[in-house]
Amino acid sequence: MKLVLLGPPGAGKGTHAKILSEKQKVPHLAAGDILRRNIAQKTPLGVKAKSIIERGELVPDELVNQIMLDEIRRGGVKQGFVLDGYPRTIGQAEALDGFLKNEKTQIDAALNFATSEKMIMSRLSGRRICSKCGDNYHVRNIPPKKDGICDRCGEPLVQRKDDRPETIKHRLEVYEKETSPLIDYYSKKGLLHEIHGDYDVPELQAELKTLFDTLRLTV
Ligand code: ADP
Repeated sequence: MKLVLLGPPGAGKGTHAKILSEKQKVPHLAAGDILRRNIAQKTPLGVKAKSIIERGELVPDELVNQIMLDEIRRGGVKQGFVLDGYPRTIGQAEALDGFLKNEKTQIDAALNFATSEKMIMSRLSGRRICSKCGDNYHVRNIPPKKDGICDRCGEPLVQRKDDRPETIKHRLEVYEKETSPLIDYYSKKGLLHEIHGDYDVPELQAELKTLFDTLRLTV
């Protein structure tokens, strides 16, 4: 299964990508997580990306293409993947298509998580991540067992700098301008499927199962 997940910040792409990749046993390649890992490790890419991400801007295409296409290659292209947060611009989508064409394959589907602004604001403002392993929580929807502490590694949970209200607004503008044209891009290729991003996790997983059955993609 080779999937691209599209949708605004806070649409739930990461949550569902994780579930799908576990069920399918294919890698979950999350551009934001990979970039944050580079920042934590102070790699040359991380050093370049840090202030860009904190301002809610996009990291330049050539940097993101390089790192994401390397990740896909490492997982084994033919084996499949769930791409979360990549591609995020037309330039990135074209780079991905070119790469897959070279490998004599293509993506199976692009899922657009259509999500209301009210839901986006509530999900992002309540989101907390583990300062060590990066696991995602939400103060109301996905609370940790112990307040403010990661269930997995016991480290404190923090709010991402780019999840502050003033930066969220800017990220949504960047999404509209740079990323929403991908909906049309994949629609013209006949690969786009609309998903209810406002749904709760079980409802949305059921919706995905029905879609994959129709598309004859295993789940
Ligand atoms: P969200 O889906 O909530 O926006 P992510 O973790 O996917 O969060 O992304 C966080 C930030 O990382 C983005 O706002 C952007 O700065 C950077 N980023 C992630 N993916 C890309 C990408 N494909 N191209 C450029 N920048 C990216």
